[in-house]
Amino acid sequence: MGTRLKAEVSYRPAKRKGTMKQCGHCQAFQPELRSCLMVSGEIEPFMVCDLWEPMPFHWDPEGEGVKAQQAEDPMEDDNA
Ligand code: SF4
Repeated sequence: MGTRLKAEVSYRPAKRKGTMKQCGHCQAFQPELRSCLMVSGEIEPFMVCDLWEPMPFHWDPEGEGVKAQQAEDPMEDDNA
């Protein structure tokens, strides 16, 4: 379980129903434990916080997760 407090990282309900940006699609989420590698306490899949990171190689039909990963890819700038 993580050590950051929920209040420190603005743990809150995810904005949109079905959005990728929620604990359920975060690489730190531990669904079988309802916990998180970074944030302490019980974590619900439909919440989100400031530390959210998309799961690698996770297909997102809305394109949100794909864009987030492309933005972090250092190779993209080299090829532009
Ligand atoms: S968004 Fe990710 S880092 Fe933040 S509480 Fe949820 S699972 Fe943990």
